[in-house]
Amino acid sequence: MPVRNNEDRLGHRELGDTSPVAHAQQESQSSPFSFVVPTEFVELPSRGKYYPKEHPLHNVETIEIKHMTAKEEDLLSSRSLLKKGLAIHRVLQSVIVDKKIDPDLLLIGDKNAVIISTRIAAYGTDYQTQVTCPGCNTTLKHNFDLEQVSPRQEEGYGEFADSITRKGDNFVISLPKTKVNVEVRLLNGKDEKNLAEAMNMKRKHNLPDAMMTDQFKIFIVAVNEHTDRAIINGFAEQMPASDSRFLRSAYDRIVPNVEMTQEFTCNNCGYEAAMEVPLSADFFWPR
Ligand SMILES: [Zn+2]
Repeated sequence: MPVRNNEDRLGHRELGDTSPVAHAQQESQSSPFSFVVPTEFVELPSRGKYYPKEHPLHNVETIEIKHMTAKEEDLLSSRSLLKKGLAIHRVLQSVIVDKKIDPDLLLIGDKNAVIISTRIAAYGTDYQTQVTCPGCNTTLKHNFDLEQVSPRQEEGYGEFADSITRKGDNFVISLPKTKVNVEVRLLNGKDEKNLAEAMNMKRKHNLPDAMMTDQFKIFIVAVNEHTDRAIINGFAEQMPASDSRFLRSAYDRIVPNVEMTQEFTCNNCGYEAAMEVPLSADFFWPR
């Protein structure tokens, strides 16, 4: 993914530059091994457009991250953290240079971009993991090329242009069948965590998966301007299938993200499909 390295910044630092590089040098002066941990700027898929005014990334197009060190590797190998699913969160906390930025409040696409750049800087662009072929259900090893992952560049809303309007940091989507106007918001790291927890809870208690309606309930903030939770939840469950499909596709178009879909060909059955790069557990643990 396109990143700007800070090497040229090291070479051409201007007066008054209070860059984190200078900061890192000061911090490490007491150590005989004063390595400067390299940092780089990661392009934010959101370009900072959807953060509220008080957020440090409001209208900011890049985020500075430092490269992983043994300290972050420790975080990634801590069993207690892994169990709680906290390891990646802690790593993000550790590599994001501006400590005012809470990884939980990063929009999901921006968080994905940071995770991928951190992985590339540490272990390179080759990512081999196990996938299940949708054609024959065989589990096999597949190589993804992280170099190909970059922020989506589409402008506008394409086929959804007539159905989507901005409303502050949110969007209103007009559904074709019911003609209902649904106001939606972009999800952040914390929402993602809540959704995953809700899903795990349901699995534990053998309740049916409700991933789709759960997602609707979390990103819909109003239905025809009604903000009452009971009304929103009721609508999420009763929406006709065609509107539900439309809402998902339109929402997908709105969300600023990195393009993670890559070609997959099964060497067992020859099935060809576009497959999303899975950010699974071994993402940070290359063999
Ligand atoms: Zn197959």
